[in-house]
Amino acid sequence: MRKIGSVLLSSAISLAMVSTSFSADPGLTSEKTVHNTQENINIKVNGVSVKSDVSPVIKDNRTLVPARAVFEQLGAKITWDEKNRQVGVTLGEDKILLTINNKKASVNNKNVEMDVPAQILNNRTLVPLRFVGEQLNMNVSWNAAQKLVTVDNKKNGNEMAKLDNIVYTPEGKNDKVTLHITNYSDYNIFKIDDPNKNRIVVDLPNTSMTIKNKINIKSAQIKAIRYSQFEEKVARVVLDVNDKAQYKVEKLPDKLVLNILGTGISGRGDVDRDETPTVGATPKFTPTPLQTPTLTPTNTPVPTTTYTPTPSVTEKPSGSAESTETPPPDSEDIGGLDVKFSIENSKEKVIIDAESYQGYNITRFTEPDRIAVDIPNAKTSKDQQTVNVNGKYIKKIRYAMFDDKTARVVLDVTGQVQFKSDIEDGKLVVRVDPPVFRNIKYSNMGDRVGLTISGATLTEGGENLKKLYSGSYGENNTVYTITFPSGQANLDTGIMYIDDKYLKTIEIKKDSSQNTTSIVFSANEKFVYQVFSRSNLNDTAITILKPAVPGEKLVVIDPGHGGSEPGAESFGTVEKTFNLDISIRLDKLLKQAGIRSYIIREEDAYIGLYERAYIANDLNATLFLSIHNNAFHSREKGTETLYYPNRSNSKGFTSKRFAQLIQDNLVGSLHTKNRGLVERPNLVVLKATKMPAALAEVAFMTNKDDFALLQSESFRQKTAEALYKSIVQSLSEI
Ligand SMILES: [Zn+2]
Repeated sequence: MRKIGSVLLSSAISLAMVSTSFSADPGLTSEKTVHNTQENINIKVNGVSVKSDVSPVIKDNRTLVPARAVFEQLGAKITWDEKNRQVGVTLGEDKILLTINNKKASVNNKNVEMDVPAQILNNRTLVPLRFVGEQLNMNVSWNAAQKLVTVDNKKNGNEMAKLDNIVYTPEGKNDKVTLHITNYSDYNIFKIDDPNKNRIVVDLPNTSMTIKNKINIKSAQIKAIRYSQFEEKVARVVLDVNDKAQYKVEKLPDKLVLNILGTGISGRGDVDRDETPTVGATPKFTPTPLQTPTLTPTNTPVPTTTYTPTPSVTEKPSGSAESTETPPPDSEDIGGLDVKFSIENSKEKVIIDAESYQGYNITRFTEPDRIAVDIPNAKTSKDQQTVNVNGKYIKKIRYAMFDDKTARVVLDVTGQVQFKSDIEDGKLVVRVDPPVFRNIKYSNMGDRVGLTISGATLTEGGENLKKLYSGSYGENNTVYTITFPSGQANLDTGIMYIDDKYLKTIEIKKDSSQNTTSIVFSANEKFVYQVFSRSNLNDTAITILKPAVPGEKLVVIDPGHGGSEPGAESFGTVEKTFNLDISIRLDKLLKQAGIRSYIIREEDAYIGLYERAYIANDLNATLFLSIHNNAFHSREKGTETLYYPNRSNSKGFTSKRFAQLIQDNLVGSLHTKNRGLVERPNLVVLKATKMPAALAEVAFMTNKDDFALLQSESFRQKTAEALYKSIVQSLSEI
């Protein structure tokens, strides 16, 4: 918090934020939740999606799954004893008997207590997944963000796969990278398109790593190959590649061969696997170790994905009348889907030929901007096909099967273009037009969803926030209109189609007689629209929030600083990166445990202090936790927790109690010097929030010993775990 002297920012630490989690195919299944209720949980058994007529359910933080659908696929035998209402799961020597609605289970004739009993739902027997899986010596994991449960047979008991060697072989114009992995069953590969740092990432679940050598490469496609034990049980291999590089994967026994091609078709249907914006439920960033020497041959600057506005492209199309058509790539795999790109009179369109378009759906995604067309019951290859079209707005078209039944075509576009679709001559035509708006950017990644309007002033001040707009709900509260004098923002009129989980459209209208402008949000349900102008950035953020319903517990995590506010600077490192890393870890733990959390920023973005507090208030949050690191004289070290005095919720749970639990858990687990609690009546985020709130100063960036601790991934993970424990304890007292 306190800042003394600043050391030149030399990026001694590398931080590779990777925007995709490791489980296979998240986006391919979870995005289907867009039109369903929340409880759309997907299961993968040994890497294969399981379909069942009964969906898994979460009860008391435990996932219950249909016994037959899941465990039969793992080779278990399921029996049912109607008289005793008992379901039996037998695998090899192990036998588990579960009685419906009874917490006592029999495991190999011994009584074992479970948290949640087996139950019957829609004529199907649901059993607690983790309990049964672990008794049968399986690996069970739950990814809350993707609502994905994975169960795998462990090979040879507890044995993990081993990544023994990585071999690089140049092959003509292409390159081959062979991962030698003993005993592996699954992998996940994805490409991160980042203009500064394109990379192909391979995650190997349940894999440990035994290699240590550096891999020397001379390649036009690959700049470096890095590897690390990404998580305790996940080995990660990262190929830094040039922007054109594509990959194709061959899975062989004990070998995974990555063919890196200069151009062409990439492997395994990874059409936008990472896109599932969910209000309050999707951590988009998986923290990567801040410091893993083996992983980074050179110091890597912190990549910044920001929420800050990019001016919209509003150029008029040029008057060329030529027409060009790009055929889809030749591939035997392509079934009934034909995708063509065409430009006529500078108008770009994509023509999709499928057998039927019944129930098709188009969704906008942001960061990067893209438009996804989902066509149910269409057939195409599971492997992603890529067509580089290089139109003015459409840059690339990719398509693949999104799940077993739906084909997805993704248009990678420049800017937030407009799209329109029609069926013409039995074909689905998607036309892309220039963005309608200037100065507006919509963002639907992660917890933070909303609009940023550059150059707009719709509120003034912070503590006494003055609204320069009026807001009102209409049509069953699904439509929200913000109206303000036109001079407050420089906007065009028009309708922007969003069609995501939150919004249908955003329309901007002007009333010339009143000289007012209105922004009309047409949403799928009632949201709260938090409007906050940041004078330092000369913009206005409108954040779309789904508040906690009465009785629901929601925790707001506030990673200190961000964007233009680095926080303390010490040893060439800025506080905001540590704060964010710990926050993302904590957010992940909460979401995994089924605790609803909202993280104020998932990227290196500036967000105002009052804005943070007002977001928490608008969310009707139960707890607010701000995460910081301290700075002062180099001899000062240790942990302290700050709180606002005399604040409590309706149940009498105080900010001080919250702070005490945090302090106790942090010091107890981290063994840092205990500096105790500090009463802070004037800190904005603690003062302006209405719920019990605390600010953890984990350690001192300015102290050599503390700084060394902060640099270690396991320390940051332990910090997140201690904070998680404090939150769980606090929630149990509320
Ligand atoms: Zn700070």
